Amino acid sequence: MHSGSGDSVRLRSGSHIAIIGGGPAGSFFALYALHYAHQAGLDLHVTIFEPRDFAQAGPWGCNMCAGLIPLRVLRELTEVGLLIPERVVRQRISHYTLHTAAGRICLPQPDPDGDVISVYRGGGPRCASPWPQPISFDGYLIGAARDRGARVVPERVVAVGLRPRPYVETRQAVYAADLVVLAAGVNRRAIDFHDLCYQPPPRQQMAQTEICLGTEGVQRALGESVHIFLPRDGSLRFGTLVPKGPCFNVSLLGDRLPQGTIARFLALPEVAELLPEGVVRACGCRPRIAVGPARPLFADRFVAVGDAGITRLYKNGIGSALRTARQAAYTAIFHGIAAKDFAAGYGPLCRQIAWDNRAGRFLFAFTRVFQHHQWLTLPHLRSIASEQALPPGERFHSRLLWGMFTGTYSYRGLLAMACYPKLHTSLLRHFLDSLARGETFRHAGASVSLIAPRRGSGIVRGQIHGYPREQPPSVVDK
Ligand SMILES: Cc1cc2nc3c(=O)[nH]c(=O)nc-3n(C[C@H](O)[C@H](O)[C@H](O)COP(=O)(O)OP(=O)(O)OC[C@H]3O[C@@H](n4cnc5c(N)ncnc54)[C@H](O)[C@@H]3O)c2cc1C
Repeated sequence: MHSGSGDSVRLRSGSHIAIIGGGPAGSFFALYALHYAHQAGLDLHVTIFEPRDFAQAGPWGCNMCAGLIPLRVLRELTEVGLLIPERVVRQRISHYTLHTAAGRICLPQPDPDGDVISVYRGGGPRCASPWPQPISFDGYLIGAARDRGARVVPERVVAVGLRPRPYVETRQAVYAADLVVLAAGVNRRAIDFHDLCYQPPPRQQMAQTEICLGTEGVQRALGESVHIFLPRDGSLRFGTLVPKGPCFNVSLLGDRLPQGTIARFLALPEVAELLPEGVVRACGCRPRIAVGPARPLFADRFVAVGDAGITRLYKNGIGSALRTARQAAYTAIFHGIAAKDFAAGYGPLCRQIAWDNRAGRFLFAFTRVFQHHQWLTLPHLRSIASEQALPPGERFHSRLLWGMFTGTYSYRGLLAMACYPKLHTSLLRHFLDSLARGETFRHAGASVSLIAPRRGSGIVRGQIHGYPREQPPSVVDK
């Protein structure tokens, strides 16, 4: 997990920290390092290198993501005195709606502490009307770091060296440092590491677009719900629609996403029926998502945080950026900046995330099975629907699904929830019920009736349609 051999090395007053990247991980590291340094009585020089102007609209000002953040994550920022301002919050999410081949179900927030919001990472979609105030989440964070004493250099780092003393190199200058923090994510051009064999995390490609319908139009189409689609189209793992005030985000993850994937997704009957005809795309990008750890995660006077280090599989990458940046900053200030200090202070968190991701992989593998077999999907949907009559604390199946969608619980916690006996009893009951109705033998194109809503159930309609496996592309992606 690390490279280096040295004895403990400590930061002192006057020491320099160079942070490569001013996305969430870089800004969180700066904020926490300055906070802990103040507690430790250290006066540090913290510099963030970030070439992006987050006030710009479109991909140039954006760190390309769906922008869903559990409020629980943002509340942690009160530790460093930060309260995310309303101008940054685009929408509060009250529901998640899951669309499967066997039907769709609308899931209200089952946990009083599980609220989720949506944000824009940059200045908003390229072709949207401009907002009257700055809305960028990343812009707010880097501004807060600057206000607390970090220096922001708007330059791209092209090379890094660690010996004899660390330095970072941009096209304009070379900057000496005592500690180099890599927070450059996984969507960067390669940085030249002179004396460290840094291997970036394995990545998977995603496709995104933004569609603007006006606040009322988005409300009519999606409500306050994130819509998740598990199509039976072989190449797509999932697609999400995330409301963000006057626009909404479309994010797709798949094993391969050829040109035309977004048009093909928007043309799926269950997607198209939500949207008005002839929607126009206001932005688009094909970012990558980290699906494993980088190597090494730390060395003498070097540490990688956020996506550039290790992150949670598929969900809550911003929450992982916070956890890794905070722990690495704590270690650097209170333990030291040698490889052995990071191994002792930062390594355990990285291992914990890696283990949790193993549980996540298992859960997502199960979701793939669930996605392709209606006979499994239907009892699940019925079980979730039936538990809506129970008090929130007893809706285990709903919490399990909410946790999978939002990243509010650890994957290991979710796996433990999945083993809860009552959940299996309920599933078995609904499975046998489906069997008795002969529904398990229907083919993919069949319609099935879902049980009637009970006392405020999250079911949104009774008649649900399956759809054929492959949809021909009807429009060509930009
Ligand atoms: C399609 C998609 C949807 C996602 N949806 C969500 C979601 O809804 N919620 C969530 O929590 N996470 C989501 N994620 C994951 C999330 O985007 C990342 O986990 C998060 O952005 C990681 O933050 P970071 O600071 O590590 O990296 P980034 O956000 O990528 O920031 C890296 C920064 O480093 C800068 N940089 C890069 N190279 C250099 C260089 N050479 N010199 C100087 N600066 C440099 C970049 O300009 C950038 O600002 C999604 C990811 C994808 C791809």
